[in-house]
Amino acid sequence: MSDAWERLFPRLEELRDLASVGSLLSWDQAVMMPPRGGPARAKVISTIDALTHSRLVDPEIGALLEELRGDDSLDELKRAHVRVLAKSYERATKIPEGLVRALSEESGLAYNAWVEARPANDFAAFAPHLEKLLALKKEEADAVGHDGERYDALLDEYEPDMKTTQVEDMFTDLVGGLRPLVEGVLEVAGDKPAFLSAAYEENRQEQFSQTLVRRLGFEMDAGRLDLSPHPFTQTISAGDVRQTTRTEPNTVLNCVYSAIHETGHALYEQGIPEEVLGLPAGNAPSLGIHESQSRMWENQVGRSRAFTDFLLPQLKDVFPQELGRIDPDEFYRGANFPARTLIRVNADELTYNLHLALRFELEVAMVRDELEVAELPDAWREGMQRNLGVVPETDADGVLQDVHWSLGAIGYFPTYTLGTMYAAAFYRKAEEELGDLAPDLRRGDGSRLLGWLRANIHRHGYIYSAGELGERVLGAPLTAAPLLDYLKVKYEEIYGTAL
Ligand code: ZN
Repeated sequence: MSDAWERLFPRLEELRDLASVGSLLSWDQAVMMPPRGGPARAKVISTIDALTHSRLVDPEIGALLEELRGDDSLDELKRAHVRVLAKSYERATKIPEGLVRALSEESGLAYNAWVEARPANDFAAFAPHLEKLLALKKEEADAVGHDGERYDALLDEYEPDMKTTQVEDMFTDLVGGLRPLVEGVLEVAGDKPAFLSAAYEENRQEQFSQTLVRRLGFEMDAGRLDLSPHPFTQTISAGDVRQTTRTEPNTVLNCVYSAIHETGHALYEQGIPEEVLGLPAGNAPSLGIHESQSRMWENQVGRSRAFTDFLLPQLKDVFPQELGRIDPDEFYRGANFPARTLIRVNADELTYNLHLALRFELEVAMVRDELEVAELPDAWREGMQRNLGVVPETDADGVLQDVHWSLGAIGYFPTYTLGTMYAAAFYRKAEEELGDLAPDLRRGDGSRLLGWLRANIHRHGYIYSAGELGERVLGAPLTAAPLLDYLKVKYEEIYGTAL
C-alpha cells in the first residue's frame, strides 16, 4: 500500500471535525441561541463552511485521490472512503468559485424574500429571486455535467446515482395507483375524530416524547431530545446524535409522530459504527435511504394497529381527561385519518406522496425549460386539482408553502417519496425474514426490527450506493409496488371494506 492513504486519512478526519463544528453551531442556532445572536452566528457558520470547502478542494486532496483510485491493496472500507470523497471533490471542484458565491448570496436573498412573500401571499415579490436562483442552478448542473438531462446533476446532490427518468417512472406508477385508492378511502373516511384537535398540555407532550424515544431504542447517553420549531436530527460527532420535536397546544399526535419520525433518523445515525461516523463512508448513502428509516418508524411501526394499541394506554396515563374515553379502533383511525389537505407538511400518509409528485413534476419542468417561473402558480393549482382534487385559494397555501426552492434545494423533494417507497419495501423484507412484527409492536418493543435495520442498513454507512444497498436488502430494484400494496391492505383493514 502506498503512503497516500496515510497522508489522506488525517485530512478526512479534519473534514469530519470541521463538519462537526458546523453541525454544533447550527444545532445551537436552532435550539439554544438567543434571537439576537442570529446575524453573527450566520457569519460564523459561513466562515466555517468556506474553510471546509477550501480544505475539500485543496489540490493535494485531488492528487492523493488520483493516486489511491486504482489502489487494489485498499480494503473495502478504505475504497469506499476514497470513492465517496472523490465524488464530493469532483463536484466541488467542477463548480467555479464565482458560481458558488453567487449561489450562496442569491439563495440568502431568495430565502429572505420567501420569508416575507409567504405571509403576504405575494408570489410576484418572490418570483424574480426564484428566476435568478433557477438560472444559477442550471449553470451549476451544466458545470457538474450531465448527458442532456440537467435535473440528473441536481438530483445527484441528494440522491446520488439516481436518474430523473427512473424517478419519473416510479412516480408514474405510484400516482397511478394512489389516485383511485385515495378516492376510494376518502369516500368512506367520515369525519375527523374530535380527539385529534383537542387541547393537550405542551409540557406533558414533551415529557411523553422523552419516554417514547427511549422506548424505541434511542440512546440518551449518546444523544439528546430538545424542542425546536421545525423538528430535525443532527449528528454532532460519535456518541452525540441530537434530535428535536415540537409541541402544539391543540393536538398531541403531531408531537408523537414527529418524535417517532426523528427517532428513525436518529437510530440510523446511532447505528453507523462510531469509528467511521462522519468520515466519507460513515454517512447514509442518500437522503432517500435516510428518510426510509424515519418513515418506517413513523408509519409502518408507529401508525400500525399493533403499535397504536400499545401507544393509547401510555397516552391515557398522561392525558386521562383528553383520551380516557377513546377506544383502540377510534385511536387507530385517528392516527391514520386521511384528508385532502392543501399543505404538504400536514398531509397524512395516504395522500402525502401526491404532494411530492406535483413538486417533482414542476421542478423538473422548470429545469428542462418547459415551465416558466411566472407560470408556476397556475401549474400548481392545476396539479393540485389533478392529484388531490383541491385547489388553494392563495399562493401562500399553494406554491409558496415550502422553503426548499428559496434555498436552491431543487432535486430534494423526490427523496421524501423515495424514502417512503424504500420504507415500505424494507419493512416488508424485514417481516419476511423476522416473521410478523405485530406482537413485538403491541408491547412497544422495536428491538428485533432495530437489530435487523442495524445489520442490513445502518452498519454499512456509505460502503454501498443507495441503489446497491437497496438491491442487497431487497434482492431487486426499488419499485412503487410495496408501498401501494401496504397502503391498500392498511386502509382496507381500517375501514373494513375492499378498496
Ligand atoms: Zn425525515
